[in-house]
Amino acid sequence: MIISVASGKGGTGKTTVATNLACSLDTEVQILDCDVEEPNAHLFLDPEINSISTVNTAIPLIDETKCTYCRKCVEICRFNALTIVGETILTFSAMCHSCGGCMLVCPENAITESKREIGIIEHGQRGPLDFVHGRLRIGEAMSPPLIKQVRSFSNPAMTSIIDAPPGTSCPVIAAMKGVDFVLMVTEPTPFGLHDLRLAVEAVRTLGIPHGLVINRSDVGDDCVREYAAQQNLPILMEIPFKRSIAEAYSNGKLLVEVMPEWRDKFKMLFHKIENSLERGDDLS
Ligand code: SF4
Ligand code: SF4
Repeated sequence: MIISVASGKGGTGKTTVATNLACSLDTEVQILDCDVEEPNAHLFLDPEINSISTVNTAIPLIDETKCTYCRKCVEICRFNALTIVGETILTFSAMCHSCGGCMLVCPENAITESKREIGIIEHGQRGPLDFVHGRLRIGEAMSPPLIKQVRSFSNPAMTSIIDAPPGTSCPVIAAMKGVDFVLMVTEPTPFGLHDLRLAVEAVRTLGIPHGLVINRSDVGDDCVREYAAQQNLPILMEIPFKRSIAEAYSNGKLLVEVMPEWRDKFKMLFHKIENSLERGDDLS
C-alpha cells in the first residue's frame, strides 16, 4: 500500500505524521520523502545513508553546424526554452521540460540529448525502516522529475509512506498520483481550512481515497470540523497542541519515541485507512 501524506500548506505537521506513522507499523515500511525542496524527515529519523545518486533531466544539445535556423524546434517548444537570435540558437535549459519535441521535429537531425543535473537521491536505513529522499539542487525549479525518481524506489512488498511537498501544484500531484490513499494534515484555523479546501479539490480531481488528520486540534475554531462534516471527509486522527509534543518536535524527536503511547494511536490510524480501503468507502 502507498499512502501519501499531504497538506495544502507547509508547517501543518505533515512530516510529523509521516515519520511517526512509518515508525509505528509492524509491517515492512519505507518512507519516501518527496518534499524535495525542503526534505526534513531525515532530521527526525537520522537514517544511515548507504547510497547517493544524482538525478538528471534530458535537455537538447544543438549542433549549429547542422542547423538551418528553420525555427521548427522553437515553434514546437511550449515552454519557450529555445529561441533564435540572428544566427544563434539559444537554449534556456532551466525552462526545458524534457518533452523531446524539438528533437523529433528537427529536419536536420541537429539536436541530440544532453543532460542537466537537478538533484540527488539518498537511500538508507533506520533499523528496519527503508528511507529514501530527494534533494533538489538549489535554484532548480523542476522538482517533479526528481519526485518521480524518489517514487521509483517504492517497493510493492512494503508499505510506502510518502511525505509529499506542501501546496497543490505539480510537485504535489507528482507525489500523490497513483497512490492508494492520501492522508491530509491540517490545523483548525481559517488558514488551515483555506488550504485544505484546495488540497481536497486536488485529491478529488485525482479520484484518490482520502482522510484527514487535524494537528494542534485544540487551537483555532471548528471551521475545519464543520467543513469535514459537510464534505463527508473522515477525521481519522487528532493531535492536540501540547507542550510535550511541541518539545519533542523542536528537539527533532519522534512523538512515538518520547511518548510510546502514541505508537498505538498511529497504528490505529493505519488500521482505519486499511479498513476504509477494504470497505471501499467512497471517499474520492
Ligand atoms: S525538450 Fe521539449 S521542453 Fe525541452 S527544449 Fe525541446 S521542446 Fe522545449
Ligand atoms: S529544428 Fe533543427 S534545424 Fe531547425 S532551427 Fe531547430 S535545430 Fe536548427
